[in-house]
Amino acid sequence: ARTGYTVPAVVGAQLCVPLVTGDRIGYANLDHAASAPCLERVRDAVNELLPWYASVHRGAGLASQVSTRVYEQARDTLRRFVGARSSDTVVFTRNTTDSLNLLARSLPRRTAVVLFDTEHHAALLPWRGPNVRRVRTPDSAGAAVPALEAALRECPQGPRLVVVTGASNVTGELWPVAELAQVARRHGARIVLDAAQLAPHRPVDIKALDVDYVVLSGHKLYAPFGAGALIGRADWLQAADPYLVGGGATKNVVDWGDHLGVAWSAVPERHEAGSPNVAGVHALAAACDTFIQHGWDQVEAHERTLLARLREGLATVPGLHELSLFDAEHDRVGVVSFTIDGLDAGLVAAALSAEYGIGVRDGAFCAHIATRRLLGRAGSTEQRALRASLGLGSTAEHVDRLVGALRRLVAEGPRAAYHQVDGRWVP
Ligand code: PMP
Repeated sequence: ARTGYTVPAVVGAQLCVPLVTGDRIGYANLDHAASAPCLERVRDAVNELLPWYASVHRGAGLASQVSTRVYEQARDTLRRFVGARSSDTVVFTRNTTDSLNLLARSLPRRTAVVLFDTEHHAALLPWRGPNVRRVRTPDSAGAAVPALEAALRECPQGPRLVVVTGASNVTGELWPVAELAQVARRHGARIVLDAAQLAPHRPVDIKALDVDYVVLSGHKLYAPFGAGALIGRADWLQAADPYLVGGGATKNVVDWGDHLGVAWSAVPERHEAGSPNVAGVHALAAACDTFIQHGWDQVEAHERTLLARLREGLATVPGLHELSLFDAEHDRVGVVSFTIDGLDAGLVAAALSAEYGIGVRDGAFCAHIATRRLLGRAGSTEQRALRASLGLGSTAEHVDRLVGALRRLVAEGPRAAYHQVDGRWVP
């Protein structure tokens, strides 16, 4: 599986050349945690479908039949990708955020929801009301297990849902999902795994982890934007009215004069109102299929090697503090956030791009509580951190270039003068 970084002509070739130095160097994308570039196999799969692109479940023509078949086959691929139980449903959504909002709107009344407070906003915000219990994330992954146990013990009787992230998008750290799922089971709670950040790096197995739901996004998995999935137990979703209503979600609509009588479709169509994103779903499935075919050994080995190189390199940058929720030795995927004493994260990110052709992310990563707490713990008064994240296209040269650039930025500062436009630094 290779990734390509040819900059489209439409945005101008100068984007792959550092603006300040004019050096013609390739782009070092170290921002896979935000979105991963499209695999060639995924691009080919989409290209193959485009001439047959038509409405799913809505036409007798051949193109419509092809699109419907492709769409339904994608459900089976997603099922295999996460090792779903035969009774699980696969609902296609726009992304992880959409999947979690859908689940939140489908909970039985008075479901108690328990989650850790450092979650990504997509997992933190959809749950509202008096029955939501936010547990402070402890200093070690081991301590998360009894912390969840204590929170569940205090929950009122009735349906319960635990929300947990597989891998943090801020620190890359892995959460002890299987152990947390066991605790949930003991307390009769269901558990949803936010696999947005885990799925591109490690295998996800619903049955082995014993989780009830998995949510993920195609654009983190080397497919383009616009398709994600909610996979898991069908009963709550089947009992809930759809939160997005329209064509496809309905079996029958009748005019009763003063109101409309509506019979909703069964899952998964019940929660897929509107014309489905068949190309996006096909792309997502092609990405998942690539991982199924290829296996995880090389993916994991490549990443572990580069991650060790990256962390060792970052440790040599004066004044750099790596951020960790748990202890520094805790296992993680290829995502590292850090702060550098006396340097503005936005300025560093801008200089890395303009002077070294390196793409990293700066900010609070849609996980404000987590990022600010970690920055505070690192002794920083900043509100923003830097994040470098590895993927299939990452190389040792990219890692070394980043480390070298940071060392030079610390020693000499940026080579150009920068000013702020709409809150962002530009040379
Ligand atoms: N959860 C985690 C851990 C994430 O990293 C992200 C994306 N940054 C999301 C949820 C939300 O994913 P999306 O933006 O694709 O909905």
